[in-house]
Amino acid sequence: MTAAEAIVQGLSEDGGLLVPESIPQLSGDMIAQLCEKPYSGKAAYIMGSYLEDFSAEELRVFSEEAYNGGSFDDVDIAPLYKLDDATYFLELWHGPTCAFKDMALQVMPRLLTASLRKTGDERNVCVLVATSGDTGKAALEGFRDVPGTKIMVFYPRDGVSEIQKLQMTTQSGGNVSVIAVEGNFDDAQTGVKGLFSDEGLRDELARFGCFLSSANSINWGRLVPQIAYYFSAYCGLLGSGAIEPGGRVNFCVPTGNFGNILAAYYASEMGLPVNKLICASNSNDVLTQFISTGVYDRNRPFYTTSSPSMDILVSSNLERLLFHLSGKDGDAIKTFMSALSSGGRYEVPSRMRDEAVRLFSGGRCSEADTFRTIAETFYNHDYLLDTHTAVASKVLSDYREQTGDMTPSVVVSTASPFKFCRSVLEALGRRRSGAGAGLKGESLTAALSEVTGKKIPAPISAIEDKKQRFTEIVPVSGMRTAIIKFLE
Ligand SMILES: *Cc1c(COP(=O)(O)O)cnc(C)c1O
Repeated sequence: MTAAEAIVQGLSEDGGLLVPESIPQLSGDMIAQLCEKPYSGKAAYIMGSYLEDFSAEELRVFSEEAYNGGSFDDVDIAPLYKLDDATYFLELWHGPTCAFKDMALQVMPRLLTASLRKTGDERNVCVLVATSGDTGKAALEGFRDVPGTKIMVFYPRDGVSEIQKLQMTTQSGGNVSVIAVEGNFDDAQTGVKGLFSDEGLRDELARFGCFLSSANSINWGRLVPQIAYYFSAYCGLLGSGAIEPGGRVNFCVPTGNFGNILAAYYASEMGLPVNKLICASNSNDVLTQFISTGVYDRNRPFYTTSSPSMDILVSSNLERLLFHLSGKDGDAIKTFMSALSSGGRYEVPSRMRDEAVRLFSGGRCSEADTFRTIAETFYNHDYLLDTHTAVASKVLSDYREQTGDMTPSVVVSTASPFKFCRSVLEALGRRRSGAGAGLKGESLTAALSEVTGKKIPAPISAIEDKKQRFTEIVPVSGMRTAIIKFLE
């Protein structure tokens, strides 16, 4: 299968995730050369190393349009913020929707439409997205008015922040639709997965000249652009003298569907000098438990937390890691995945677990610690974290305390604090005392700006002038009808 086919198809025919046949290797010299390039050049190079059926010129153009077209508000695209000599934040939220999903979703629609041309496919693509909040908006922005595409986003009605919801329900564009689903993110995601394997639906859509595709991180076209910023972060540390060439670094990643940290894993397998990948969970700590015990068990309470993009019990991309850890044993992965869907649990053999703990470490952060970390980081460093990044920051501190490992570390900062104003204000102790109490949507952002002296990102302050276009709510069982109605 070619890369273009993988991007068009999204999932394999049996519902499994697609992985690259081999992982490209970069030597130290190649990394040094990569560091000379601007962000867009790095991204084009990394994507090109996987997407063999795309020309360098094609990827250069896509990458420049995505990252240099004015939709990012920082010239470095993914700047590093230095907290102290050993701790850095990689800010991945300078794009049009203020969360890290933009890093991939600004370029992915270009990869998808080019893939359709390459495979000679003349159908229109209908992108279906289940979102825990940030993917939905980033995908809507990425696909908005892209010819030959339609996009439909399902979000859990009670699982997203006010700002996330407003961002989506006010979305512009003639090819978009946004629907709230009764249930949590796993319900929405399971619903979307069910639609993908629904042959009857496939036939019905074929009548409209359409086929379904995914913009979730189960699509390889979503994952591959994310590998670039791990190299970019490394280059930043080299450039500032924080590490020597070849020096190792840790990355601590706030994790939900395991896409972001999986991109770090690929970077590491490509030759990026990584010491540990620290997987940070909120109260939904199914991954932390998996890393420490080798048992994946989704039979546990589901918590709705202040870091909704990590409120996930089925982390789809873990399947890809398992495949690599098992020495590419597809049958074993099939067994784990069917055990997961029937009984909600599987256990990997100890040699796979040993492989995992060689590179990964996991940690959990409670709600109280998330809030405390936001307050401490703001009052001690004048640096404002969103809830997801705070989870990772705390998990990194705990990891250091437990291991004594003081390798220079990068906390991956996945969202602007202004997407999660209510929680951040509460963390700063400013809710009960006035600012923020009883406020809705837009006024929350103003309150947070006032309390912290930080500027509201332009895409969020612009919401105020927009009208809500999408208010429909459906049960999971109504998702199928909603698509047909949208496409008809
Ligand atoms: C999506 C998201 C995450 C989780 O990323 P995964 O790739 O799903 O692990 C973390 N933080 C924020 C802000 C997100 O939007």
